[in-house]
This record gives sequence, structure tokens and C-alpha cells, in this order.
Amino acid sequence: MLKVGMFRCQQTEDMCAGNTDFKIAKEGKFAFEETGPVEVVGFVSCGGCPGKRAVMRAKTMVERGAEAIVFVSCITKGNPIGISCPHYQKMKEAVIQKVGKDIKIIEWSH
Ligand code: SF4
Repeated sequence: MLKVGMFRCQQTEDMCAGNTDFKIAKEGKFAFEETGPVEVVGFVSCGGCPGKRAVMRAKTMVERGAEAIVFVSCITKGNPIGISCPHYQKMKEAVIQKVGKDIKIIEWSH
């Protein structure tokens, strides 16, 4: 079972508990249809704008066993209020640079 570290937008923490992300990870649905059910090794926020803290948090996730980093849909699709992250591309590039290209990047959740 693939181990994933999930990142959420810090600005949506007040309006979403992330329960759908856990549900679809367990069931292998939506973004996880390709991988099948995944094990969530961490579920943290980006650390706040502009997402710099995500870099070291991603490194820690990988050190704790994450084989993939998931930027869940509050970041990439703007769930649930339709405002996606304006810093996403830079944040993603910095995370990839830190964790290396062997770590799979999944860019949505549901
Ligand atoms: S950097 Fe993006 S994901 Fe992080 S709090 Fe700001 S808008 Fe949300």
C-alpha cells in the first residue's frame, strides 16, 4: 500500500476537517483510483502563505515513510470556496527540489 503525506491549505483549516480526504484515501477513490487505497502517514498544512514551510514538512514526511506527497484539493482546486492557492506552483517546485523526483506528487484529492 502506497504511503502518502498530505498537505492542506492552512487557510481552509477553519472550514474543513479533511474528513473526505481520509475517506477517499482509505477507499482508494478519486485521486487514489490509480494507486488503490493508501496509508496516510501525515496530514499537515502548508504552514501558511506563501507555503515555505511545506518544504521542510515534506522532507519530514518522506523521512517518516511517505512515498508520495499529496497536495489536496483545497490547495489545487480551491475547495470548498473556489479559491485555489496562488503560490502552488512555487511551493510544489520547492518541495520537489527538496524531496527529489523519486517521490510521487499527487495534485488533487477529490
Ligand atoms: S500558501 Fe497556498 S495553500 Fe498555503 S495557506 Fe496560502 S493559499 Fe493556502
